[in-house]
Amino acid sequence: MAREDDIRPEETLDPEDWESMRALGRRMLDDMLDYARTVRERPPWRHAPDEVEARFQAPLPLDPSPVEEVYEEFRTFVLPYPVGNIHPRFWGWVHGTGTVLGAFAEFLAASMNPNTGGRDFHSAIYVERQVIDWLKEIAGFPRNASGLLTTGCSAANLIGLAVARNAKADRDMRKEGLQACRRRMTLYASEEIHSSVQKSAELLGLGSDALRLLPAGADFRIDCGALEEAIRRDRRYGHLPFCIVGAAGTTNTGAIDDLDALAEISREENLWFHVDGAFGMWAALDSDLKNLVRGIEKADSLAFDLHKWMYMPYDIGGVLVRDEEEHLRTFALRPPYLAHGEGGRGLAGGGLPWFTDYGFELSRSFRALKAWMSMKHHGVRKYARLVRQNVEQARYLARLVETAPELELLGPAALNVVCFRFAPPGTGEAARDLLNERIVVELQERGVAVPSGTRIRGRYAIRVANTNHRSRREDFDLLVRETIRIGEELAGG
Ligand SMILES: *Cc1c(COP(=O)(O)O)cnc(C)c1O
Repeated sequence: MAREDDIRPEETLDPEDWESMRALGRRMLDDMLDYARTVRERPPWRHAPDEVEARFQAPLPLDPSPVEEVYEEFRTFVLPYPVGNIHPRFWGWVHGTGTVLGAFAEFLAASMNPNTGGRDFHSAIYVERQVIDWLKEIAGFPRNASGLLTTGCSAANLIGLAVARNAKADRDMRKEGLQACRRRMTLYASEEIHSSVQKSAELLGLGSDALRLLPAGADFRIDCGALEEAIRRDRRYGHLPFCIVGAAGTTNTGAIDDLDALAEISREENLWFHVDGAFGMWAALDSDLKNLVRGIEKADSLAFDLHKWMYMPYDIGGVLVRDEEEHLRTFALRPPYLAHGEGGRGLAGGGLPWFTDYGFELSRSFRALKAWMSMKHHGVRKYARLVRQNVEQARYLARLVETAPELELLGPAALNVVCFRFAPPGTGEAARDLLNERIVVELQERGVAVPSGTRIRGRYAIRVANTNHRSRREDFDLLVRETIRIGEELAGG
């Protein structure tokens, strides 16, 4: 006899009322389109009030709430307090802006909800392979190179450097690990390299000491003479130099190492050549800027982002590896429950490696869809023009800074990053640092613009990194005007 419990109707998370869910979905769509269209009318950032934070310390919601209520809470407490990076005057750190089409693509991808870690003969795999082929073409990589879309450039650097370590170790790294190595493995980059490279060295068990940070020259590019000397010195001490990491666009100044020279040194020294091209790689899209990243096509592995200078919504980055066999040797692992490649039929039947064979994650989202749709719809020439537009805007800002007697340019504006400061005559270095730190805070707090701060050769700098397809020249005029006004106000008061 069935008990009453057993005949209770089963539950699901599908909508109880599809029509009211449809109505809500349409409202969300309308709201978000209005939100995107009117972004310029709002401040780039506003300090979230304390009650917003308090709102998110609620007890565990055991019982349901109407979805309209939850959405209302989102509209009131979440939506108005973003970090601000979709705004035309947000240039802090290196943030991407996203697009309307990218947001739509995320909805489509989540609706299909495929797991792209593996299986074969399903469309999402073909889409990702297609996008990776396009990326190889942009980077000048051979067609038989391998690649993987990642959450970002941090993951891409970790994957590239893991392959580098395993390829160059004098032990079977997967089986015996670094502990079996008698020689210390060392890698090389400029002092301007991104922190994710150090994190990778730490996570890979190499230790941050193994990452030899070399001085950057006046142009903030790696000093190749010092690099060669460091490699020779490490060899003399019996260490095992294994990798050079080149920067295509440093975070501080956008400097691009001499990648051709680094490729040459790597070849001569039999080292792996990895490039962190987080945003600088996209200079390759423009026929004039391309020259700046000459040599990127010679990298053994290349890490980059599509959520920064390709303007796609978070998160999406990628890694390319020239030698597919090396790539697979580091990551492929096939327990019986993940067997693939037999029979040529069924979801596990294809003979090709799965995406999980190229990285450390098994389950993965369909992030390729937003890349595929965006590149097809906008066309790669449009991206090339936007990258160029951002570089020209950065040069425009640098000229504004140079012609304003109150301002000083700190470092060359070689790409899309401009560092400058308010430098009234008669103030000392310490006072200038303090003043500019306060200017950055005021620019943000007053909702004028969001630059970030950094230190350039020890001096505090206002830093503008332009990966924003919504910025206009007038936005930079406003930034300069307000920086001077706030600077004078703070210096006077
Ligand atoms: C942003 C950035 C990274 C890290 O990329 P994420 O996508 O944030 O993980 C690495 N290198 C450089 C030069 C960057 O600008």
